[in-house]
Amino acid sequence: MSNYKPGLDYAKEQDTLDELASYRQQFHIPKDKNGKELIYLCGNSLGLQPKSTKTYINQELEDWANLGVDGHTHGKNPWLGYHEFLTESTAKLVGAKPIEVVTMNSLTANLHFMMASFYKPTKERNKILIESDAFPSDKYAVESQLRHHGYDDKEGLILWTPREGEELLRYEDLESLLETHGKEIALVMIGGVNYYTGQFFDFKRITTLGHKHGCMVGFDCAHGAGNVNLDLHNSGADFAVWCTYKYMNSGPGSLSGCFVHERHAHNKDLNRFTGWWSHNKATRFNMRHEFDVLPGAEGWQLSNPPILSMAAIKASLDLFSEVGFDKLLKKSKKLTGYFEYLLKALGEDTIRIITPEHPNERGCQLSIQVLKADKTLHTKLTEAGVVSDWREPDVIRCAPAPLYNSFTDVYLMVEKMKTILN
Ligand SMILES: *Cc1c(COP(=O)(O)O)cnc(C)c1O
Repeated sequence: MSNYKPGLDYAKEQDTLDELASYRQQFHIPKDKNGKELIYLCGNSLGLQPKSTKTYINQELEDWANLGVDGHTHGKNPWLGYHEFLTESTAKLVGAKPIEVVTMNSLTANLHFMMASFYKPTKERNKILIESDAFPSDKYAVESQLRHHGYDDKEGLILWTPREGEELLRYEDLESLLETHGKEIALVMIGGVNYYTGQFFDFKRITTLGHKHGCMVGFDCAHGAGNVNLDLHNSGADFAVWCTYKYMNSGPGSLSGCFVHERHAHNKDLNRFTGWWSHNKATRFNMRHEFDVLPGAEGWQLSNPPILSMAAIKASLDLFSEVGFDKLLKKSKKLTGYFEYLLKALGEDTIRIITPEHPNERGCQLSIQVLKADKTLHTKLTEAGVVSDWREPDVIRCAPAPLYNSFTDVYLMVEKMKTILN
């Protein structure tokens, strides 16, 4: 896609031609103190609020007010099976079968629950392989799992590291790590889209490689869900987890999604932590039964879920379903490609994009590395009304989200950058 053009007119023309442009109006766009809309490029951290969210949550507040406990069975959307309202659309969004997904808990908690089942260390095979620059919470979770099982958290970690002077990870290096250490590795756990560089990994390639060496393979898709085509089922991954408050626009601290591959759906012998919500729905309320686990990802639930948070997720998923993820991805590639084009056209050597160039190896985020880790560029962008984030040591992350960002947003952001750099 190299037929981008410079100038504000081009950006405006693209917005006019964009069939998804009207969805911006369905979101609350934060404003500055003068009431002017900010250029919000931070959906990688917290997605914006759909205007419909309030209606969805109010419905449940109303049922609670009017029905009390009977809302579980007689509400407009009965709470007992509320999580099932999210199953189909979640499965579609992440490329899974309905039996493979569930919404529950928060992200790091789910990562632990998945490791309770899929990290099964033995005397010979007890290590965990992660990216050297994994998201801190994932690294802490993995280290604590090692300690929990009585292993040293340094010796037990095998890091997939970029080469000297590079930021992105190379598959050849993963291959040789597995050639050397494959027999010692119990679990390969990768951040599906790296939070720092924006590199979107080839799940199928990593999974096939991990399985060839006898490892379990899981992905943290916090930066992938709602952003890239995860195709989880076909990847063959054993499990995946993600949050819903980044690209899935479901509100701060909202619940997490979880994928368990169909091949594990009916394995009752798989060790797991359980609660009453993992138990057979038909006999759950007999309260006396021997434990009888639900098939599929639902069998990993513990508790009855927070309906208010799920209502926000439902509001957002309904929007995604209405738009169609394929259309969204198409716009996303065009919008981020345009962003890249404009940044490169600045011809500035104080900044450098470290995110992969190939549209299939990234989502909408571009990570802009700033020379000498000069944070003032980010501070000035913020003062100029651009919401992005700074990640230590030296990167500004910007994510034009195709549901609510426009070509004009991207154009104006780069114009502001140009002014600041001059
Ligand atoms: C955002 C993010 C988290 C955050 O974890 P929570 O448990 O939701 O606080 C964890 N891991 C990754 C890779 C993330 O991007």
